[in-house]
Order: sequence, then C-alpha cells, then structure tokens
Amino acid sequence: MSNCSKVLLLPARLGVLAAILFSASTYAQNQLASTVPDYSLHKTLLIGVDGMQYEKLQQAIQDAMAPNIGGLTLAKSYVGGVAGSTTQQGTNSGPGWTTILTGAWVDRHQVKSNSNGLRNQTTSLFEYIKTAAEQRRTASIVSWNTINHNLANDIEKGYIDLAVMCDDKDMCVADKASYEIEYGQHDFIFAHFDEPDLVGHSQGFTPPYQTAIQGVDYQVGQLLTALENRQNSHPEENWLVIVTPDHGRETPAGHNHGAQTLSEKTTFIALNKAPNEQLSAPIKDPVNPEFDGLYGYASQADIAPTILAHMGVQPVVEQYVIDGTPLIGPMGVRHLSHRLDTQARSVTLNWRPVKPRGEALTVYRNGVIIGTLTDAASEFVDSALPDTCEPLNYTVVTRGLPVSVLVPAPDKAG
Ligand SMILES: [Zn+2]
Repeated sequence: MSNCSKVLLLPARLGVLAAILFSASTYAQNQLASTVPDYSLHKTLLIGVDGMQYEKLQQAIQDAMAPNIGGLTLAKSYVGGVAGSTTQQGTNSGPGWTTILTGAWVDRHQVKSNSNGLRNQTTSLFEYIKTAAEQRRTASIVSWNTINHNLANDIEKGYIDLAVMCDDKDMCVADKASYEIEYGQHDFIFAHFDEPDLVGHSQGFTPPYQTAIQGVDYQVGQLLTALENRQNSHPEENWLVIVTPDHGRETPAGHNHGAQTLSEKTTFIALNKAPNEQLSAPIKDPVNPEFDGLYGYASQADIAPTILAHMGVQPVVEQYVIDGTPLIGPMGVRHLSHRLDTQARSVTLNWRPVKPRGEALTVYRNGVIIGTLTDAASEFVDSALPDTCEPLNYTVVTRGLPVSVLVPAPDKAG
C-alpha cells in the first residue's frame, strides 16, 4: 500500500517562466518566415459570449441578426472536458471561462463550480503574458463578476492590469472595453458579455433568446469598430480577435446547462485569422467516439495556446501545463490522450502525429525527458512509474511545440 494518507488535493503548482521570442526559433522557422515578427505588436482581443448556443447563433447568422460574429471564421468546438475522465468539468461558466483563460481543464485549474470563492490553481493567460514581458498590459472586463473572483490571485499579483466587474451589465462591458481597445495600451483584453445566458435561463430558446444573441453581436460590433479605429492610428499592430462562449445549453428547452450532453458540450470558436487544421479539419475518428465524434473537434482548451502563439509567448517546456493545441500557425501533435494501468504501473500516451519530417519528438514526465522518438511516432509507454500520490504531468514536444496532459496519481489515497 502506498503512503498516500496525506494526499495533496491540488496538483503541484508548476513554475511559469515564459519567454517572448525575439530571436530565430523553431517556432519561427516552422512558419518559414524569413524574419521573425515583432511580437510586441501582436495583440489579442478575446470576447466571451456567455451561454450562446452554436446552433442558435447559426440561426441568428442566417436571419442576418449576427453579422459581426458571422463575419469571422467560425467552427464547432467542445467544452466540459472528456466525460468520465479527470478532465470532465461542468458545462458551467466557472469551469468554462477558467479553461478558456488557462488552456487547462479542471484537473489543473480546480474551478469546479460557479462559486465566487474558488481560485484558479493553474497558470493563466495573464500570468504567461506578464511573466514573459512585464511591460505588456492585460485587461479583464467582465459582466459576470465571478470570473474576476476566480482570477483574484492573478489580480493580486499584478498579472491583470485592469480588472473591471460590470455586475451583469453588458453595456458597461461594451463601453469600457471599446474605450480600452481604442485608446488604451493593452496587449491582451478579455471582454465578457452575459446576456444570452441570462435570457436563456429565464426564457429558454425563444425569440427573446435570439434577440439577446443579436444584442451581444451588436456589442461585439462596437468592439470591432473600436479596434478598426485603433488600427487606423496604429496600423503596425497585429490583432487576433477570438469570440467564444463558455458552454452550450440543454435541448430542447434551452434553459439549463451544466451536464454532459451533446448540446451542452457543443460550442464554437470564431476568429479573424486563418485557422490551422486543429480548427478547420476536425479528426474524423477520435479515440473517444462519444457525442457523435465531438472530441475530434477543437476544444475551449485550445484558445489560450492560440493566444500565446499569436503573441509569441512560449512557456518553458519543462514547466508546460497547457492541455490545448494552438488553432493558428504550426501545430505539434494533436489529441494527446492517456491510459493509466495501475496494475501494470504504466501510462500509455497516444496522439495524432504531425506529417513526419524525420524530426525529434520528446516526451517529458514532470519536466524530465523520459523518451526521445521521431515525429512519426503516435504512442509512448511509460512503464517506469514513480511511487507518487500526485498526478503526473506528461508533455509531448515536436518542432518546438508542446502539449501536455495530466495523468491521475498512480497511487491513490488509502
Ligand atoms: Zn448559465
């Protein structure tokens, strides 16, 4: 029996050193760029549209009620982690926004519900960005205050320069975010709208819900207009815009959400840049075929690494704790999954390989290299598990692009 009586409830917090790429790197070489972009000009506007259902948005787009979100490149995605695994999380706002803002599932961030008292326990986008370059500025302007409560540690440590709680008033978000976009000096702005979720809860899938989508789309348009104005006076800046909800809704009524059903797990990611295959070419035969193959699509954990890729922030590989894959630019392996065999004391990692170029692929366990393969590989077996009561963080890296997965502790409390 293992000595797990004093089990740590939270996974060990890993360090967060990160660097902005100012010199030639694998990342840049993979882009086949002859010159490295000036990442200090690469900025991001992330717009959250709480509880906006994918199919209902599509209906609104068809009805010409959502021209602004409809004008972006939009694709289906999933939320809520993988049902039945340690990444499974409620299709609720607390867990959802925390995953969007960290690139990690609940087994790392620990925001398990919508409680104001929960604090994100993994590294946030804000922390990655500020750690890489202190002078960069970040903002989190939210209609649903709980998001900034969950981020209280980031605010206290100065990783969020401007944190605004708008008390469910979306107009406040539209006004404040528009101003900061046009006149502020932020490198990363998160703006969160809540109206579709509020109307969904009270009225379900009704005409007022479609009107709420239309209203928030109009406010997204306000933000995009502010960004256009900014680009007129700052044409050298390169802005990534992403619009995404935190969860779907139950069908057919549309009032509720939180459970692991297809319509609650289905969401969308919309962006203003050409996506890579992780968004544009879903995997047709995912390892887990449940929910009509939904796990073959991009997930809400892919958003944070997309933003870091755009902004040239590369967290240190030995401390990498992001479960998602970038949706723009070059990709490493996709759909990293694991199988823990506590009897055999082994972990089998599986992934979809990149198109092989004969390059190295490296596997890390808790920051230490445990395997070196080639980029043609799609599996690795770790049969030398340590005795530990804590989860194991595995990272697979090829072409300088890491992706991680947290495997439950091989020795359980007993
Ligand atoms: Zn809700």
